[in-house]
Amino acid sequence: MLRVTEIHAEPAAAASLRGRQIIARFPEARLVEARSHWRIPHLHGNEGNAERWVQVKRQTLVLGERKSFGIRPNGRSADWIAPGLSNGCAMACAYCYVPRRKGFANPVTVFTNVERVLDAIGRHVAGAGPKPEPNQCDDRAWVYDVGENGDCSVDDLISDNTADLVRAFRRRPTAKASFATKFVNPDLLRLDPQGRTRIRFSVMPADDSRLLDVRTSPVADRLAAAADFLDAGYEVHFNLSPVVVRPGWERAWGELLDAMDDVLPRRVKEQAAAEVIMLTHNRELHEVNLGWHPRAEELLWRPDLQQAKRSENGAWNVRYRIAEKASAVESLRGLIAARAPWLRVRYAF
Ligand code: SF4
Repeated sequence: MLRVTEIHAEPAAAASLRGRQIIARFPEARLVEARSHWRIPHLHGNEGNAERWVQVKRQTLVLGERKSFGIRPNGRSADWIAPGLSNGCAMACAYCYVPRRKGFANPVTVFTNVERVLDAIGRHVAGAGPKPEPNQCDDRAWVYDVGENGDCSVDDLISDNTADLVRAFRRRPTAKASFATKFVNPDLLRLDPQGRTRIRFSVMPADDSRLLDVRTSPVADRLAAAADFLDAGYEVHFNLSPVVVRPGWERAWGELLDAMDDVLPRRVKEQAAAEVIMLTHNRELHEVNLGWHPRAEELLWRPDLQQAKRSENGAWNVRYRIAEKASAVESLRGLIAARAPWLRVRYAF
């Protein structure tokens, strides 16, 4: 996954304990000082890097200090979006929204001021108190998404940030961490989450995944790992996402649901729930993708089916037209009810 040859680091991040640990973990890498982790001109601003999209992800790390510690309400995937300990990803899903404001490169940025982030989360959990009533996020615990802008399973290959998050939530009986992942990292099995971390394996039909989920673990491996993670103390959910409408998509999703029904043991099914998320896309990302993975865009960029929408952060995205989307969500709900009736859909949009 990673063969790091250069680390761009803000001076304070490089000098921090976590920064020094990471630099020591990759002794071959060249250290380059960066004034700000957010926009490094010859990295994020270098148009030529679009063609080296995957190579940059494999070879480059950025170390920085997180400056914002706000916790946003969500209500869909989680009750709250926590400040993450990374931004960017070493995998390269063609539809990934994380690089949308990053320009022409999106390697992992690791935040090294871990204690400040954990303090912010701890204060928020204490202030929220017990959850007053169940909702679709969870019956009893406030759920905090800790991996909005990266993949915590891959982050664990770089530093102890994910381990620190999992450990921090062990002490929080009213709260639960949650993150989605497409990478099976057996090292996470040692973290003893004691039921306070929900891991959400993202799945999609294998043919779509082979084309779109570049560098991820095969979907079959993600399903095969579910029981191990449950037995290791995680809650295990699934993200059915993104749902990409293409000729034959319903048949392919039906086959995936059959495979889930066959492969997953009863104890996984009894506690599982799913999020269903239809594809959204973005013109800037479309342009970048044409530079490194144009075949993916044949599936993702469908002006005949899509319309523009302004997202919560003000950016213009495209999504399936309202009628097409409603009909596709209905079809998928029907498939789940017929093929995997044990899979509770937490929400679908
Ligand atoms: S695994 Fe998640 S964060 Fe990483 S590239 Fe894929 S969608 Fe983006």
